Amino acid sequence: MEFNLDTLVRENIKKMTPYSSARHEFSGAATVFLDANENAFGSPLPVNYNRYPDPLQWPLKEKISQIKGVPPSNIFLGNGSDEAIDLLFRIFCEPGQDNVIIFPPTYGMYEVCAEINNVAVKKVPLTRDYQLDLEATEAAVDANTKLIFVCSPNNPTGNSIERGAIEVLLNNFAGLVVIDEAYINYARQKTFITELTEYPNLVILQTLSKAWGLAGLRLGMAFAGQPVIDYMNQVKYPYNINTATQQLALEALSNISSVNNWTKTTVVQKDNLSEALLALPVTEKVYPSDANFILVKMTDARRIYEYLAGRGIIVRDRSKVMLCDDCLRITIGTPEENNQLLEALKKYMA
Ligand code: PMP
Repeated sequence: MEFNLDTLVRENIKKMTPYSSARHEFSGAATVFLDANENAFGSPLPVNYNRYPDPLQWPLKEKISQIKGVPPSNIFLGNGSDEAIDLLFRIFCEPGQDNVIIFPPTYGMYEVCAEINNVAVKKVPLTRDYQLDLEATEAAVDANTKLIFVCSPNNPTGNSIERGAIEVLLNNFAGLVVIDEAYINYARQKTFITELTEYPNLVILQTLSKAWGLAGLRLGMAFAGQPVIDYMNQVKYPYNINTATQQLALEALSNISSVNNWTKTTVVQKDNLSEALLALPVTEKVYPSDANFILVKMTDARRIYEYLAGRGIIVRDRSKVMLCDDCLRITIGTPEENNQLLEALKKYMA
């Protein structure tokens, strides 16, 4: 299957003239900026935000490039990885005509973005052990299938998708294979970033919202071949990443060691919590997890969810989700929080 980006991109996107921001046209050294209708005096804050941010976030991309080993020109930064997901629909999927494939149970935003963009979603359920059904996937692909979303480690099941199966998609699908690696820092399986040079149809999504502890800043990353990244930059809002986020993310990315320590602690806590939950009669199964949460099958998930919520402990009720009957998704907290959860469950049984 030949990959041809030109046939994948919507005609209107190919033809459009991108917005040219005030600072686009000039790249030399200047000291007087009277080009962007900003307030020249400053901001009513200790730090000045009166100037527009860098539209392409070059210093931040340089830093991410060093950490990830991917050239800056292969990196897109978005307002969360959710922005990247939405952009892929808008660039590649013709409303009312094209379709995408997802593997439920999986992250909800792929379908939400599809609905917003009036793009059909073909659902190929994961197998009983939460892996890809390649035969059913092959049968689902048609000439209008533009994107396949693989979430690995998968939310809400927590497991990684087998690498070999993802490679089959990459080798055979003529559209884009989007691998959402939001939870990759917790996984035993390694990232697909190293395969970027092999596969022009590969897009990898990562985020600072999980292991990096920066969900409130909203910074998502997409890694792909430069032609795909160029389209994403062309379609995004000109100033999609604000100055505060750019500066703070740059600072945070220098503190890798604390992030690595939290990740290790989370993995240890996940094992401890899984073991402690399994010892409780309300727990039927804890699914193996490569993420910072566990999917737990319980005797009566909905009632337990409500009981916990009544005590101020919020978990995610997934009991109505396909292949997740009677399951709660529980994020790994601090040791104290995990203990509070366990104590509340013991009281529930008493
Ligand atoms: N992908 C997956 C699998 C997620 O679980 C989430 C957040 N729950 C996201 C993407 C979105 O993350 P962000 O905060 O970067 O938009």
